[in-house]
This record gives sequence, C-alpha cells and structure tokens, in this order.
Amino acid sequence: MSFISIDHVIKDYEEYRALHGISLSIDRGEFICFLGPSGCGKTTLLNIIAGLHFPEQGKVMCLDEDITYLTPAKRKFGIVFQNYALFPNLTVSDNITYGLRGKEWHKAKRNERADELLSLIGLPHIAQRYPVELSGGQQQRVALARAIANNPRLLLLDEPLSALDAKVRVTLRNELKILQRKLGITVVMVTHDQEEAMALADRIVVMNEGRIEQIGRPESLYLAPENRFVGEFIGSMNILSTPQWAQGKTIGVRYEQIQVRPATEENLLQPYSLVVRMMSWHLMGAFYRLELLMSDQSTQLYADVPYQYFQDNQLSEHTLVAITIPPESWCVLS
Ligand code: ADP
Ligand code: MG
Repeated sequence: MSFISIDHVIKDYEEYRALHGISLSIDRGEFICFLGPSGCGKTTLLNIIAGLHFPEQGKVMCLDEDITYLTPAKRKFGIVFQNYALFPNLTVSDNITYGLRGKEWHKAKRNERADELLSLIGLPHIAQRYPVELSGGQQQRVALARAIANNPRLLLLDEPLSALDAKVRVTLRNELKILQRKLGITVVMVTHDQEEAMALADRIVVMNEGRIEQIGRPESLYLAPENRFVGEFIGSMNILSTPQWAQGKTIGVRYEQIQVRPATEENLLQPYSLVVRMMSWHLMGAFYRLELLMSDQSTQLYADVPYQYFQDNQLSEHTLVAITIPPESWCVLS
C-alpha cells in the first residue's frame, strides 16, 4: 500500500483552476520533489497534503485513512516554508520545541529534545540564541529541526533552500539528504530548481499549469522525457522536427549527445549525419557549447564538446562541420 495517495485532486481559486485532477502515490521513505515553473501549482498541492487547503474534488489518503479534510495538527506532518518563519521573540530551543505540548513535555525534557535535534543538525551550541542572531542557513536548519521535533510521519518542504545564497544552498541540500536517509523519513519538497530536484529526489513530479507532465526517477526524466516540456525543463535539449531520416517525428537530442567532426566526405557519409555551419562557441568550463546552423539556414542547434576535443580538432567559426545524431540519442517527443 502507498503511504500517501492523491486521487484526482482539483483545486480552484474562485474562477481559476490551479490543479486539474492530480493523481499521485508516494511510498514510505521516498524523497519526492514537485518541480515546475512558478505558478504551476506546486505549493497548492503541498498545502493540500498538509491540510492547509481543501480540494474541490478528489481525495488524499494516508495509508488506509482518508485525510482530505483532516486538520493539519491531526495529520502529524512537519512543514518547512521558504522564509524560515521562526518566532523572533523565542530562543532557538523554544522555537524547536514549540509544537511539543502536553504534560509529558516538561521543561527539562523539551530542552533535552532541543539539544538532541541541534546536534543532529550540526549546531550544538546555539540553543539560547534568538533567530536574529543566526545566519539564513542556520535559521533554516532550526526550522528543519522544529519540523522534525515531534517525529512527523511526513516532512513537507516548500522551497526551503531558495532564499539562501548559492554556496549555503548546496551545503544544506547535501545535509538534508543525509538527514533524510538517517531518519528514513518520507519527504515531499517543492522546488523550481531542476538541479536541486535531480540532486535530492528519488522521484521527481514535473508539473506545468496545474497538471503533472511526467513522474520518474531523475535519470529517466533526463534520458527519456516524454514530451517537449519535460525535455526542456530538465536540462537543455535540441528539438528537431524535420530531419529527413527521422520519418516526420519530433525528436529531442541532448547537447552532449551530438557528435561533431570535421566536414570530410567520409564523415558526412556516416548514417544520421548532417552538414552544419558553426556560428559561434562559448567556453562553459569543462566543455565548449557550439552554436550550429542547419543547411535550411534557420534551425539552430547546440552541441557540447569536451574542452580537449575542441582544442585537438581546431574547430573554428563559420566553417562547415559534420554532426552525427545517432538514434540511441533520440528522445521521441509527443
Ligand atoms: P507554485 O507554488 O508552483 O509557484 P502556486 O500553487 O502557489 O504555484 O499557485 C498556483 C496558481 O494559483 C498561480 O497561478 C497562483 O497565482 C494561483 N494562486 C495561488 N494561491 C492563490 C490564492 N490564494 N488566490 C488566488 N490564486 C491563487
Ligand atoms: Mg510555491
């Protein structure tokens, strides 16, 4: 049985339909990312799982319990939002243990739990500080500690890293993955950053305009996108609709899958080869990105070639080159 199943969920904001019948199941222990452009409905779907919004139609199950209209507190889920949302007037320790209510949570036990969580997140000495005395990365670690303080069944994260600067974001991303593995907790995280989703998720749910475009492991979304939206949202892709040997199909090809060679007769006679003009190139670090123009004079393609290959073959601007696009590299798109 799935841990969470979402069945044909529809959500309207007055006239505007934000979710058009979303269905999805999540297994226990999975790390799921909702990925898509701003406004596609990621937060709305997360909030429906959290119980902060109710859907117009459809239902949300947790194991065999219908939780569609259950209050957030009764769900026993932890939530972290983008902008930390710590209480400024409470110490770190009191922030972390804020949700631990009831007689058994007397002061000493709460402090003990806060210390335990602070060492888990690598900040053992800040229990008595106030949020304003912490960096953004530290505040977000504390928000994470607060969300897991009560051993939630599910951890929901809404763009938890996007307010942080690039270096801290990557460090915290790695820590988040380690923590998730250590606790074995099920995580659903919203992000618009494809690199973040690829680095963290067991499965990515690619969303667009209130619909799911594709669900899959990062590798399968990258290597076998089912449509143009997914191919272009995850990584970069050339879209070719008219190569003579593709039988009228629209195919997508990753930049690094295009083979570039000097335009000799022998190279041009290879199957699946074309002659193109090299318009320009840009050094991207470990590789060069070549901008190529097909012989129809209007279709542009990009090819990524390793730094050394570019140097060795003395590829230069405005010359003709042979490219080969073998069928193994095609993604047939709908
Ligand atoms: P995302 O998190 O993917 O950026 P959201 O789920 O926040 O997207 O929003 C999805 C769509 O619903 C957007 O077009 C947004 O403008 C709209 N929306 C979100 N919240 C509300 C609201 N409270 N009232 C009206 N429209 C909303
Ligand atoms: Mg959002």
